[in-house]
Amino acid sequence: MTKLERCKELLENWEQPDYRYRQILHAVFQQKISRFQDMSVLPAELRNRLIDTLGETVLTLRPAQESLSGQADKLLFALEDGEKIEAVRLHYRKGWESFCISSQCGCAFGCKFCATGGMGKRRDLTAWEIVEELLYFFLQGHPLQSVSFMGMGEPFANPNLFEALSLLTDPAIFGMSQRRITISTVGVLPGIQRLTREFPQINLAYSLHAPNAELRKRLMPVERRWPMEQILDALNAHIRRTHRRVFLAYTLLKNQNDTIAHARELGQLLRKNPKELPLYHVDLIPYNATEHAGELFEPPDQKRIREFYQALRKMGVSCAVRTQFGSDIDAACGQLYAKESS
Ligand code: SAH
Ligand code: SF4
Repeated sequence: MTKLERCKELLENWEQPDYRYRQILHAVFQQKISRFQDMSVLPAELRNRLIDTLGETVLTLRPAQESLSGQADKLLFALEDGEKIEAVRLHYRKGWESFCISSQCGCAFGCKFCATGGMGKRRDLTAWEIVEELLYFFLQGHPLQSVSFMGMGEPFANPNLFEALSLLTDPAIFGMSQRRITISTVGVLPGIQRLTREFPQINLAYSLHAPNAELRKRLMPVERRWPMEQILDALNAHIRRTHRRVFLAYTLLKNQNDTIAHARELGQLLRKNPKELPLYHVDLIPYNATEHAGELFEPPDQKRIREFYQALRKMGVSCAVRTQFGSDIDAACGQLYAKESS
């Protein structure tokens, strides 16, 4: 349990008035006060009691390792039970900041090219642990302009995800607009459908990575459970219902999925749905080499990347090559963790 959750319990046990918890939330999320001592709205005696029980600050997550570069700061957080997760802060030139957070410690989906997949699933994060990944930065004064679930884990495989989304968008917590949140999924059908119903404005990114089921099966075992055909149907329905853009992530793996023939096949696949096509956007991500054992992958060379991009564009598909932010600090999914535990 995070400290803020325990706080709520303690206040009840200590028979404090109901508004005390709201005052604490207000101090933390509106005034950015992290230390109980500085919450002057609380009686001194209560502050001391909280400090004696919970320690100086409201933060439960401890930064266990930091890796800083000009554009991306990556943090490895230690959870209460000693498990570790990653969060990344990306900062762009014009002062724009974006956070990439984890939804699980590890991941059960075992995509062949992914370092997190290589470690298996350790556990789901609780809703408040997800909030805390951002609270850490928020209390340092960073505004939460954009948050994506692209760190460790599969968001829709975590039953606590929707509670976390409610907290992120709750005006008494972060009060984030849905449009500033992006969920990246390997394609968990019930999760996508629930998002369409309950959070239609949240951005959705589907990790496709292959233009056909056969190749996708080799790279991503999830294809056997939730075939891309079914997921694309659900995404088309999402587009029709929300009129929002849907992102397709395509990690380029040298000689595996990066030829012009693959690009054309991908273009044809998307052109099967001419009505929805304009709202799909493909992000091409050159593979970020990881140290984890298993099958060997390599990033394609620049020429291949450019040709792939141009072939897709020629077919009328909106796409972009995503810059390799933070590759110098192992910013891809699960890599900092993999390094620390080896
Ligand atoms: N589980 C979710 C979200 C976390 S992964 C998902 O799979 O969508 C975020 C993105 O990083 C996914 O698109 C994933 O396929 C991609 N990814 C994982 N390892 C990578 C690597 N080594 N290089 C490039 N992209 C990678
Ligand atoms: Fe899990 Fe996503 Fe990595 Fe696949 S790419 S193993 S779903 S974290």
